[in-house]
Amino acid sequence: MTRIAFIGLGNMGGGMAARQVVGGREVMAFDLAEAAVKRAVKAGATGASSVAKAVDGADAVITMLPAGPHVRKVYDEHILRHAPKTALLIDCSTIDVESARAVAKQAREEGYRFADAPVSGGTAAADAGTLAFMVGCEEKDFADIEEALKPMARVVIRAGDHGAGQAAKICNNMLLAISMIGTCEAFALAERLGLAPDRFFDIASKSSGQNWSLTTYSPWPGVGPVTAADRNYEGGFATAMMLKDLKLAQEAAGKSGASTPLGAQAEAIYALFDRLGYAGKDFSAVLQLLRGDLASLKS
Ligand code: NAD
Repeated sequence: MTRIAFIGLGNMGGGMAARQVVGGREVMAFDLAEAAVKRAVKAGATGASSVAKAVDGADAVITMLPAGPHVRKVYDEHILRHAPKTALLIDCSTIDVESARAVAKQAREEGYRFADAPVSGGTAAADAGTLAFMVGCEEKDFADIEEALKPMARVVIRAGDHGAGQAAKICNNMLLAISMIGTCEAFALAERLGLAPDRFFDIASKSSGQNWSLTTYSPWPGVGPVTAADRNYEGGFATAMMLKDLKLAQEAAGKSGASTPLGAQAEAIYALFDRLGYAGKDFSAVLQLLRGDLASLKS
């Protein structure tokens, strides 16, 4: 695996393409934004002037695009028309399960191997090559996909067949949102009851309320490990990104008939927080909404 075409060089894709260069691959990079291509070239990639030019002679094509419609369009109009049939096609964007399956079907019908491989971990993990990949693909293709993703990955896990990677991603993030809101509500109630946040943290961390949002990603500044809360909720996982994933989860729940009342509530709470102007804040900042102290986020 030597030649990688990388399409979509934004906040995530830029760092991921650079990791492929560090991993010794020849990277052909394309993005609609010229500045993004320039950044990739500075990191050691070769800039391409179109998707067609980027995928020419590629062993693997990796896409990191905003949403389902972008992925469908780039595959339909460009990749499936120009990539060699031997190229391994991997979409790492977070998109709806339906689009992932539709693209997989189209790619398979054209004779390609395809995987949906969304990631967990933000831009810091993309830059460091420590992303977790959740892969939906045919079992026989997994070893090659893992090899292609290796320079960008801390771990690569096969979730199942096509679409299963996206399903794993939205189910995980729905659970994360619910557990974060629950953790924030518990902190807010503890405060009203006169319980010191650090005392509550120590007790709940060792009791049945223990969960990742509490012990690893504490939303209360100065309590637990250093987290986004200690940087006034800057960096980390933006509310807008969480809201996007919750919308995908609700859309999938509606279409599949799954009952997700807490997921629906989580979406409503993050939609409100987003509309109030906090789209760029880390998702754990929702603590301040629930405490009724949004003013603290402005400082
Ligand atoms: P971004 O908006 O920074 O980057 C997307 C890039 O795609 C942009 O540079 C844009 O110009 C490019 N693009 C759009 N249409 C294109 C086309 N037709 N051809 C070529 N390039 C095109 O977004 P991001 O933050 O890098 O996120 C990318 C994906 O990763 C999204 O699906 C997002 O949900 C997911 N994701 C993001 C994070 C995060 O923390 N940012 C974490 C996990 C997953």
